[in-house]
Amino acid sequence: MNIHEYQAKALLRDYGAPVSDGRVVLQSDQAKTAAGELDGPLWVVKAQIHAGGRGKGHFKEAEAGDKGGVRLAKSVEEAEAMAKQMLGRTLVTHQTGPAGKQVNRIYIEAGSGIERELYLALLVDRQTSRVSFVCSTEGGMDIEDVAANTPEKILSFSVDPATGYQAFHGRRIAFALGLKGPQVKQCVALMGTLYKLFLDKDMEMLEINPLIVAEGGDLKVLDAKFGFDGNALYRHADIAALRDETEEDPKELAASKYDLNYVALDGEIGCMVNGAGLAMATMDIIKLYGAEPANFLDVGGGATKEKVTEAFKIITSDPNVKGILVNIFGGIMRCDIIAEGVIAAVKEVGLKVPLVVRLEGTNVEKGKEIIRNSGLNVIAADNLSDAAQKVVKAVKG
Ligand code: GDP
Ligand code: MN
Repeated sequence: MNIHEYQAKALLRDYGAPVSDGRVVLQSDQAKTAAGELDGPLWVVKAQIHAGGRGKGHFKEAEAGDKGGVRLAKSVEEAEAMAKQMLGRTLVTHQTGPAGKQVNRIYIEAGSGIERELYLALLVDRQTSRVSFVCSTEGGMDIEDVAANTPEKILSFSVDPATGYQAFHGRRIAFALGLKGPQVKQCVALMGTLYKLFLDKDMEMLEINPLIVAEGGDLKVLDAKFGFDGNALYRHADIAALRDETEEDPKELAASKYDLNYVALDGEIGCMVNGAGLAMATMDIIKLYGAEPANFLDVGGGATKEKVTEAFKIITSDPNVKGILVNIFGGIMRCDIIAEGVIAAVKEVGLKVPLVVRLEGTNVEKGKEIIRNSGLNVIAADNLSDAAQKVVKAVKG
C-alpha cells in the first residue's frame, strides 16, 4: 500500500527527521490560510497523487499558465492561485500512465533553498532477504536513468539484521554522497531514523528523491514516497488509516474487498484461475501463443459462487478484455462451483466476448454438464495449451 507525500512527511516528522513545515488542503479556498501559517518568502505547491515525476508532469486539457504538479510560489496569493489551478485536474506523469491521476489534495510547504539534490532509498532486497540502502549523488532525477547511464554513481548495500543499522553504514552513505563536516553526523542520524521507521512500519520501499543539502548546509527530506507491506497492515492500524482508495485501480480495489488476488495488466485476455502458480503458468502460455493477459487473478482455493461471480464481473468491467480464459484445476476448489459462478455472473453482466473454459479435477463432469446445459456460448477446452490456443484464436482470429 502506498501513501501520499504529506502523510509520509508527517511520519518522518514524528520520527524526528528533518522536513519542512507544510499543510494539506482539499479545497482551494483553504490554500491562502494554510500558506499564511508557513514561513515565506518561498512556498512550494505540490499535487498529491500516488505517483512520482509530478514536477515534470503535465495536466490534461492544457490551460494557459500550466506548469507541472510541483510549483514554487513567491506569495501566499500566488500559492492560492496555483492550488486552485491544480485541484480537480488530471496530472499525467511518466509513472501515472497516459490516463493520469486526478489531483484531489494539495500540499503547501515552506520552500527550501537548495544547494545539492541527492537520492536515497531503502528497500527489501529479495536477493539477500535484507533491507538495503541505495544512494546516489544524482538526486532529483529518475534513478532508473541513472542506473542505466551512470551506474557507477549509485551505491547500494544491505544491512545485516543481526547487527541492525550501525553508524558506519551512515558514514558510508555520507562519504558516497560527498557530505562534509557536520553533514556526516546528520546523515548518520537520519539514516538510523529511516532504518528504524522502515522496520517499525513493515515498509517495502522508502524513497527520498531528492534528499537535499539545503542553503546553509543542513540535510533535509524534500520528497518522500513510502510503500508498505500489505500483508503486515493488520498490525499497523495507523498506517492502514492512511489508505486513499481513490488512488487505487478500481478493479484492484473491488477485488481486495472480496479477498481476490487480482492484478490489473495491459493485455486483452482476461484470466480466471485458481492457484497463484497456475495463474502464472496461464499468463505465460497466453504469451507463448502470441497474446497478452489482461490480468492476474487467483480466485483461491475455497472460493464461493459469490466470489467467482464478483471475479467474473471485475474481468468483464475491463474494456481492454477481448476474450476470457477460465482455467480451473479443482483440488480444494470444486469445478461445479466455478461453473455456477461463471453462469451466475454471465446472467448478471452478459457476455460480449468469447469465453474459453478449461475445467479439470474435482467434480469436473458435473461442472462441464452445468456449462453445457446453460445454453451459453462457451468454447470448451481439454487442457491448458488447448485452452490458450483457443482463446488466442478467438481474440486474434
Ligand atoms: P516529483 O517531481 O514528483 O519527484 O516531486 P518532488 O517533490 O521531488 O519535486 C520536484 C522538484 O521540485 C525537486 O527535485 C526540486 O528540484 C523542486 N523542489 C521541490 N521542493 C522545492 C523547494 O522547497 N525549493 C526549491 N527550490 N525547489 C523545490
Ligand atoms: Mn521527487
